[in-house]
Amino acid sequence: MEHCIFCQIAARRIPAKIVFEDEEVVAFEDTNPQAPVHTLIVPRKHLESLKDITLVDAPLLGRLLMVAAQLAREKGLEPRGYRAVINTGSGAGQSVFHLHVHLLGGRAFRWPPG
Ligand code: 5GP
Ligand code: ZN
Repeated sequence: MEHCIFCQIAARRIPAKIVFEDEEVVAFEDTNPQAPVHTLIVPRKHLESLKDITLVDAPLLGRLLMVAAQLAREKGLEPRGYRAVINTGSGAGQSVFHLHVHLLGGRAFRWPPG
């Protein structure tokens, strides 16, 4: 996936502020943060979006959320709460078509989201 920016970041061919990585998951800071904490958690496997997942990806999705929760705890977000968001499709705001979880925290959030 040489044209996919998140595949390139996961392979360390494009720089990013990586805050966590293991054999399946990489997390790095968003370059255009929408909250004081804005971290992206991505699978190393290239999946375009939630639309493309199958049953074999279920454990991987669990790991993405586990990493989001772990980072939220480490970053001190638990007392005020935080969001873990997966935009799916351009109509929902997805602009990078490699599945990712946004971890957002450090400010108040409204509901419903815009
Ligand atoms: P989406 O809009 O697809 O849900 O989220 C994509 C996110 O990736 C955006 O928040 C955007 O700021 C972030 N982003 C896009 N390009 C890069 C990049 O090259 N590096 C990093 N760290 N974040 C990026
Ligand atoms: Zn990719």
